[in-house]
Amino acid sequence: MIEIKNLTKTYMTHERGHTLKETMINLIKRPMKQVDAVKNISLTVEKGEMIAFLGPNGAGKSTTLKMLSGVLHPTSGEIKALGLTPWKQRSEYVRKIGAVFGQKSQLLWDIPPADSFYMNKAIYGVPEGDYKRTLDHLTTVLDVKEIMRKPTRQLSLGERMKCEFIMAMLHGPELVFLDEPTIGLDVIAKETIRDFIKEMNSQGVTFILTTHDLDDVEMLAERVIVINHGEIVFDNTLGELRGRLGGKKAVRLTTDTPFPDKFIAGVQLLNRINECEVELEIDIDILPIKGFIRQFNETYGILDMSIEALPIDAVMKGLYAETKKVIALV
Ligand code: ADP
Ligand code: MG
Repeated sequence: MIEIKNLTKTYMTHERGHTLKETMINLIKRPMKQVDAVKNISLTVEKGEMIAFLGPNGAGKSTTLKMLSGVLHPTSGEIKALGLTPWKQRSEYVRKIGAVFGQKSQLLWDIPPADSFYMNKAIYGVPEGDYKRTLDHLTTVLDVKEIMRKPTRQLSLGERMKCEFIMAMLHGPELVFLDEPTIGLDVIAKETIRDFIKEMNSQGVTFILTTHDLDDVEMLAERVIVINHGEIVFDNTLGELRGRLGGKKAVRLTTDTPFPDKFIAGVQLLNRINECEVELEIDIDILPIKGFIRQFNETYGILDMSIEALPIDAVMKGLYAETKKVIALV
């Protein structure tokens, strides 16, 4: 469905001076600065996949999605998506794709979403029958029938985001890009949107999404691609991502004696809840659970304990720490 080869995007920006003198000089001469946002990315996406793009701020996720959706030309490299080159065959391409960019609205501010939907129908030439059926289905699933006739500016963020999804899906795209689709939403709205994405995916729509919300990843994506400094540092399943960091476990512990912050090799503090309650990361290759219990029970008296897989944010931290090292390319 998508074939990306050696994709690179370099932005040229003006360097801004910090001191007054520099700012004055900048009025006459503005030095250019080069930002390598995406460096030589290659990957293949199959039909029906749901991929989460993860990475710290500035990693190059949005830039990649913008090139994939055809709004941005790459500096070099190729993309073939649905048999087309996004930025060259743009008008043909946009009929087959959908996009929701959390930070940028497709809805017109002063008119109700219902009118924006109708406008998209005209733009994409969606036949009346299809339009009615799809709209009815989408507005039911996303529960926006009540609010879609209010002007967009009066809607809550969650209501607006649900309408953004309808804008993106009305013409029945096969491939959808979502850039931080759940950012700033409350738990209920997140749930509705995730269920919606899942349902569309089970009907064969391919999704690529970026997110900072690791629950999105947990609930949606099978394949996780991690970008750091514009390069792919991981491309595999979520389970594999956890496994990469060795036999690490998250242990929640309640003791009868206050617990220290510094421990022995193989044990790290993830989170302190109170004096006698902590979350620890244990590397069981260094310290097996049995040994851990023996040592800690003697000194602190274990009252309660749970052992779980490492939370993904801890896994991500570990991964970013291994900057630039390619961990696993499929
Ligand atoms: P992410 O979405 O992962 O946070 P972006 O793709 O937005 O990252 O940005 C990648 C890098 O490119 C960052 O260093 C960012 O500052 C830079 N960048 C993004 N957009 C532009 C732009 N229009 N002009 C110059 N630099 C940009
Ligand atoms: Mg971004």
